[in-house]
Order: sequence, then C-alpha cells, then structure tokens
Amino acid sequence: MSFASLGLIDPLVRTVESLGYATPTPVQAQAIPAVLAKRDIMAAAQTGTGKTAGFALPLLQRLTMEGPQVAANCVRVLILVPTRELAEQVHASVRTYGAGLPLRTAVAYGGGSINPQMMKLRKGLDLLVATPGRLLDLYRQNAVQFTQLHTLVLDEADRMLDLGFARELDAVFAALPRQRQTLLFSATFSDPIRALAAQLLVDPLSIEVSPRNSTVKRIRQWLVPVDKKRKSELFLHLLRKKRWRQVLVFVKTRRGVDELVDTLAANGIAADAIHGDKPQPARLRALERFKSGQAAILVATDVAARGLDIDDLPQVVNFDLPIVAEDYVHRTGRTGRAGAAGDALSLVCADEVDLLAAIEALTGQLLERIEEPGFAPEHRVPLTSGGGQVLKKPKKPKKNKAQADAPVSQVDVRFLKPR
Ligand code: AMP
Repeated sequence: MSFASLGLIDPLVRTVESLGYATPTPVQAQAIPAVLAKRDIMAAAQTGTGKTAGFALPLLQRLTMEGPQVAANCVRVLILVPTRELAEQVHASVRTYGAGLPLRTAVAYGGGSINPQMMKLRKGLDLLVATPGRLLDLYRQNAVQFTQLHTLVLDEADRMLDLGFARELDAVFAALPRQRQTLLFSATFSDPIRALAAQLLVDPLSIEVSPRNSTVKRIRQWLVPVDKKRKSELFLHLLRKKRWRQVLVFVKTRRGVDELVDTLAANGIAADAIHGDKPQPARLRALERFKSGQAAILVATDVAARGLDIDDLPQVVNFDLPIVAEDYVHRTGRTGRAGAAGDALSLVCADEVDLLAAIEALTGQLLERIEEPGFAPEHRVPLTSGGGQVLKKPKKPKKNKAQADAPVSQVDVRFLKPR
C-alpha cells in the first residue's frame, strides 16, 4: 500500500517520501481515508504508531483543498494535547508534513507569555495546536474564535483526563460548533474516555492498532525488588553493570528527580532532568540533548512521559512505579518502538505492591521478578496474582511497647518468598 493510494495529494506524498516513510503504518492506513472523508474517529493508538501523521496529513490536505480563507482570530483545525512537550512535538510534525503548503499554523501552551500567541491568532490560523488551559485563556480574552472550526483533534485524551483537564475540556467543547469532525486518540480506553467518546463522536470509525490497554509486545518488562532507601544505589549499580547506552528514568516526584540527578552527579555521572518546575526552554533543551544523544541519561516525571518522540530508545527505568497504572503503559511506550526491541525495568519496593498489582491487572501480564545479588530487600515485595490481587500482604506488627522498640528483624512479620 502507498500513501498515494490512500488519497493523499502529490505534495504530501512527496513530503512523506522525502522523510523516508516507505509505507503507511496500520493507523495511517485506516485513519487517512476516514479523515479525508470527514468521518469521526476513535483510535486506540499509542505514540510510536505514526498516529500524528495519521491525522495531520489528511487534515493538512483538507485545509489546503477546502473552504474559505481563515478570518481574523479564527481557527479551522484545533488539536488539543495534554502537555507543552507534546504540543511542540505535534506542531513540529505538522510543520514538517505541511512544508510548502500555504497554511498558517501555530502552537499555544501555558507557562510563557500569551501575547505572541495572541499576535499569531490575529490574522487567523488554519491549524492550532494547544493545551486546554491556555486555549481557554485565549478564548476568554477573545483572541480565538471557533466560528470557522471544522475539526477537533483530541490527542492523548486519556492523559488529558489524568492531568485533570476534564473541566477545561468541557468548557472548550461548549464553545465549539456542534457541526464538526472530531478525532479522538488515546493510548488507553478507560470508562471516562469511553464516556467522552460517546458524548463527542458521531458514528465514529473505531481504530485499534494494538491490543487494548496493552504495552507493546516486544518490550521486555521486568522488575528488581529492592528496599526503598537503596533504589539510588541499585540504579547506579545497574547503570554501570548493564552499560546502558541511553536511558530514560521515571521518578515519582519533582524532588525525587532532582535528588537522583544530584546523586548521579556526586558519582561523576551527568544526567539531565525534565519536570514541571523547570522552565520551558530548559525542558526543551534537555529533551533535545537527550534525543540527539548528547545526554545519555534523562530523569523525568510523568509530565515528560507523554509526547517524547524518541526513536528506538533501548532502555526505560521506572525508578518509582507510577501512581496511575495507565502511565506505566505510556512510560514503557518510550521503548521498543517502530519494531525495535526494548527493555523496561522497574525498581519496586514493598510499599509499591498495590501499584504493581494494578499495573499487572491493566497490562494482563505478571512482571518477571529478578533479584539483583547484594540488593535483596529486607522488606519483601509481596507476590501478586497478575489479576490485580496482592497474594499476601505483610502483617502489620502489633504496636505494643516491646515490639515498637524491637529492631525490625525481631518483629514477627512474615512474607511470601518471591519466586
Ligand atoms: P507518532 O506515533 O506519530 O509519534 O510517530 C512515531 C514516529 O514514527 C515518528 O518519528 C514519525 O516520524 C515516524 N513515522 C510516522 N509514520 C511513519 C511511516 N509511515 N513510516 C516510517 N516512520 C513513520
């Protein structure tokens, strides 16, 4: 199958050829004709499936071929994304795919000055990529109008809900014309996402390119049980032992990110950090350094988990398990992409067993446990069923005086031994 056979016009076909895309990916093969035919879409597609080109190419074509010129402050296609990083990345893809077409596009997200975004909107935009909060700010200041809007794209819709954008999204939907095309992309399909789809989509084409709620098959997923206080030490040890060429490390909190980066620095290892407290230019710089291979280690919170378009990343480490099980799928989605094999390792302590059980229930697989010699935890990680149950939780020691004062090893706490 070729891009031309999907109905794309010559300039777009030439562009994708120049990018070295030989054939459409499965999500592109299904989405491109449907978007050209103005259908609604509900797509279960993760980053790495080529979904951005799947919606951007046909929308750029429609913008070029159809409709009146865009009026002042109006927008014809709106792409909503959860994070600034993804906004930048999607807009960069749009610009690449639309090179040479006479279209005006822009990106708008919070954190920086709103004025340049207002200036760009003044002449109207064919396509705007935005995060929900900033879009609402622009709307409330009359900087953007939706009278000419014909297509709304929700990219990584699950992540938008996870980040608490439900109210902003409702306010945006209320402002949009009812007659429009809506494309909804989500890596996972939880009940709230299905409810959103039922509310927004009319007779949608359902596209599913990998099994629902599952991580990509060629990723080796495993865990090392470890005591919480020894995680940094274990990470350093594995880093040296495994000689990871390039590793993306996920840590639960912003403080945790900074602490790990400091620990690495104290051991003579340079690492970049990316999290919500960092100014946007620093985040983009860190991302670029990592993508270009200048930095071998990037430590991130989940804010950065989405939208990191890094091809062929061999190693992801979950220094902490994510609070939201779906984030595990997004995190591991950074590796093993485009058919390349990947490795996703989680450092799991006893406190995290409920999170582990939830992840295993969501992905439908038991993570292989491999103890690292010298790092066997004092606090055993209880076994899990793979179906979401913890097989045996450690008993809480009774709090009588004698026990409270006793050293940990004398307290009668029994655990199931890991396999
Ligand atoms: P996405 O899932 O949209 O983030 O795209 C993942 C990566 O796949 C990006 O780096 C794209 O440049 C690349 N890509 C998209 N479509 C194709 C294709 N048909 N053939 C090869 N690479 C592609």
